[in-house]
Amino acid sequence: MATAKFETPALKPYPVIPLVAAGAMAHSKPFVASAAIQGNIGFPGELAEGWEQRAVAKMGELLDKYRSLRVYMDACVHCGACSDKCHYFLGTGDPKNMPVARQDLMRAVYRRYFTFAGKHFPKLVGAVDMSKDVLDEWYAYYHQCSECRRCSVFCPYGIDTAEITMAAREIMDSVGLGQKYSNEIIGKVHKIGNNLGLPGPALEDTLLGLEEDVKADTGADVRYPLDVKGAEVLLVTPSADFFAEPHVESLIGYGKVFHAAGISWTLSSKASEAGNFGMFIGNYEQLRKIALRIREAALELGVKRIVVGECGHAWRVAYSFWNTLVGIGAGGKDPFAIELQNQLDPRYKQPMHICELTHDLIQRGALQFDKERNDHRIVTFHDSCNVARASRMGDFAGGQFSIPRDIIRAVANRFHDMAPGTTHEATFCCGGGGGLLTDDLLELRVKGALPRMEALKQVADQHGVNFMATICAICKAQFSKVLPYYGFEMGMVGGVHQLVSTAIRLGDSR
Ligand code: SF4
Ligand code: SF4
Repeated sequence: MATAKFETPALKPYPVIPLVAAGAMAHSKPFVASAAIQGNIGFPGELAEGWEQRAVAKMGELLDKYRSLRVYMDACVHCGACSDKCHYFLGTGDPKNMPVARQDLMRAVYRRYFTFAGKHFPKLVGAVDMSKDVLDEWYAYYHQCSECRRCSVFCPYGIDTAEITMAAREIMDSVGLGQKYSNEIIGKVHKIGNNLGLPGPALEDTLLGLEEDVKADTGADVRYPLDVKGAEVLLVTPSADFFAEPHVESLIGYGKVFHAAGISWTLSSKASEAGNFGMFIGNYEQLRKIALRIREAALELGVKRIVVGECGHAWRVAYSFWNTLVGIGAGGKDPFAIELQNQLDPRYKQPMHICELTHDLIQRGALQFDKERNDHRIVTFHDSCNVARASRMGDFAGGQFSIPRDIIRAVANRFHDMAPGTTHEATFCCGGGGGLLTDDLLELRVKGALPRMEALKQVADQHGVNFMATICAICKAQFSKVLPYYGFEMGMVGGVHQLVSTAIRLGDSR
């Protein structure tokens, strides 16, 4: 399925719209989930007779449930404003990776079954029957969208291809065609508690090891507590923070911030994963079920605040959905949601991003830094797509852009932003988001990273940038993998709290 060999695109000094290469990525498809993986999370194991009708019925259900989806199907005027905005088109040249063409894969089926013209004059309006060929094309190209929403920023009608991709994946899962990577991970979260399948005892060992490492490094007794009842803060962070590099460096940083500020905190073995792949597959039930673990942990531990670590899509889910999904923030109406709302401290934003917490402490003078400890780094910042375009931070517009940059400037002397048009709301996805961070999609990931790599090269050449900070576990993993393809060091990417960790004064040490 996936290609073993491919050429890394050449970095150009300025953005160039590629020549169209029809079918260039038609071969790119992620591994299909086995019947067992599908069954574990309640989906059919394979396509069975009559799947075509069931797929169309599911589409009808989603069109009724999400008015936005019907509007997106009807509203596109094919103006082409989005066509050169997707990093996967820019990196591959495949015209089906133009957002409008990706949408049209579903629109053609929508027209056939849900519009008068498509039912009666299908050829005139480009309507097509649901068939195995159509489904195969969906599987390929709806797994070449990272749900990053960049295209929607440029669409005059605000059409959000990410939502169309989510609907397509939901339809495919419902008839028995699921993606191995995402669905296997969701199964692990339900069974073990996190995406990596890291059991509680291993987690405890890892955290004890971190305490020893930090003590040896700084002399300070920084704690990384697990399942502590009565702690003020429950920190929910991506499981990659527990062992992957560079992710763990940010976890070390969170601990130092809590230590320096004197805030009691805990991690949870039950809620040992901030990520929520239910969003990637567009399935509301999975989204809720995964998020419920966090509510259960918060209630059991009796915490007053819930803080989310550096994870882009987790923050999108937390910021946009946790309130009504599970009652973290106002909105949930079931008894457990109400109990949790009464338990959490109303003086704080619920949930809160770790960057908001650190930023607030900096503003109040509660943290001190030796900025020169970061002088070996010339830093830039990669805005992660889910934070930039699907959430916010602080209580002012654009906080998700300024807060991480303010933190970086507080802890490092040398910072340079990448070119306008590649940052803030126009940021490019890392190329591995939306459930695509799997080696069976490596070609897509490498090519999809091209626009970000070009922007990085510019600041590396002009300012000597040697460190790209980000606040997303997927971005960190994706860049660690693809940076070397473009001639950069893999260690060039790291977290904002990695920089915090380097510079923070711990008071009782060094
Ligand atoms: S990957 Fe992003 S820019 Fe490309 S089609 Fe999907 S949402 Fe749009
Ligand atoms: S920018 Fe919007 S209206 Fe124009 S082609 Fe793209 S999706 Fe359609």
